[in-house]
Amino acid sequence: MKIRKSLCHLILVCFFMTCSGFNPAAGQEHAEKIKPAEAMRFLEEGNIRFVSGKSLHLRQDNDRRKEIANGQHPFAVILGCADSRTSPEILFDQGLGDLFVTREAGNVIDAHTIGGIEYAVEHLHTSLIVVLGHERCGAIAAARDSTHDEAGHIKSIIASIQPAVQATRGQDAEATCRANIRNIVAALQTDEPLLKHFVDSGEVVVVGAYYNLDTGMVIFLDEK
Ligand SMILES: [Zn+2]
Repeated sequence: MKIRKSLCHLILVCFFMTCSGFNPAAGQEHAEKIKPAEAMRFLEEGNIRFVSGKSLHLRQDNDRRKEIANGQHPFAVILGCADSRTSPEILFDQGLGDLFVTREAGNVIDAHTIGGIEYAVEHLHTSLIVVLGHERCGAIAAARDSTHDEAGHIKSIIASIQPAVQATRGQDAEATCRANIRNIVAALQTDEPLLKHFVDSGEVVVVGAYYNLDTGMVIFLDEK
């Protein structure tokens, strides 16, 4: 009876935490205390709220702005696509100062992007890096349709996605998108000297995720 009562209490607490947007990372001065698994849970819970139409839009007001004006402690890095339909703070229902976001078309990386991520990991002590791709990504489509004579700097993005295109010949664009996500995850996990060190020591986790434009759901990808 006692166990049953405790179980009911635990379920109620979990329900409250999801529905209330409870997030001990918010305003916390020492983000290093937020473990990767906990950071991922905040994102998953926020996405559930977004998908169910129950976003709370917490920590987006003037009080929050003032609270973090002199310092930031984001609990996750999001490397997302520049696509206007994929704003991380919205689809994860997070507030100011919660997420360290860097976005490139096709969620590709270069030295500047990695430098920004390194800053978040080393100086802000953020322990979770999410590589966020999405359904019907224009950059992925462009890379698949590439004739290698694109004008301007778009060809640089397309070249970065080509390994995923080559690896998914005969498959659909979503397979290419997921392959590209996994390629970027692997590249960040092994990037020397900083990110590799933090990943190998277990202090930082890099994970891939796929955003479904139709449903609003973010699915975290299993490691290969
Ligand atoms: Zn995209």
